[in-house]
Amino acid sequence: MIDTHAHLAFDEFSNLDEIIDGAKKSGVRKIISSSSNIADSQKAIELSRKYPGIIYPSVGIHPQQTDPQNKQSIRQQLDALERMVKSNKVYAIGETGLDFSEPPPPEIARTIDQQIGLFKGQIQIAKQYNLPLIIHSRKAFKEVVRILKDEPDVKGVFHCYSSGKKGIKDVLDLGYFFGVDGNLTYEEGLQAVYKNIPIENILLETDSPFLTPIPHRGKMNKPEYLKYILEVLAKTKNIPSREMDKQTDQNAHKLFSF
Ligand SMILES: [Zn+2]
Ligand SMILES: [Zn+2]
Repeated sequence: MIDTHAHLAFDEFSNLDEIIDGAKKSGVRKIISSSSNIADSQKAIELSRKYPGIIYPSVGIHPQQTDPQNKQSIRQQLDALERMVKSNKVYAIGETGLDFSEPPPPEIARTIDQQIGLFKGQIQIAKQYNLPLIIHSRKAFKEVVRILKDEPDVKGVFHCYSSGKKGIKDVLDLGYFFGVDGNLTYEEGLQAVYKNIPIENILLETDSPFLTPIPHRGKMNKPEYLKYILEVLAKTKNIPSREMDKQTDQNAHKLFSF
């Protein structure tokens, strides 16, 4: 299995040796450490050096400001991101996108214009360096799709896809993937949505430390719990888990070019 989205740079994972060990034992072969700001991105790159062959960095800036102490302008942050991409081996740009919901404190809301500038800037970096996008889209699906339609050469994944049956066609038309998380194990509505999504377009992700699947719901999430998502997905699609594992593995290799 490949966990295509976990926040390993977060303080919750100070015992990373143990986390990685547990992930390996449960059958996770690769983990993409997804980032939400510049400091986070730098740390993801450092982690990929410390744990080669298992941690793969994605660098990016979340639509909401997750690092309120950072006083740099959008332009300065985009420049810093580009320097990072230029001089390090990274596997994706993200998470990036649009989020029109109220951010949880201490995060700070960016204006719609700021978010769009930040998103488009990161799409250009992805295009220039031939990297896929890890899209965070919340209450902004139509706007995100509209922007991505203008950049047909760039591919990516709608991480933690949540735009229902009605959004499936838009994502498929873009040639993007659907990231499925632990909420699949307890949201029947989401299972009904996944019945309609082709398996060639699904990527497994935990979004650790968030979205813990059943049977560990209520505790902190970690990559080793990916197997519970795989099992429920396989059951939902009525496909043996081994086959689902193989297919989602192939999908991840296709998008992220490991
Ligand atoms: Zn996200
Ligand atoms: Zn995330």
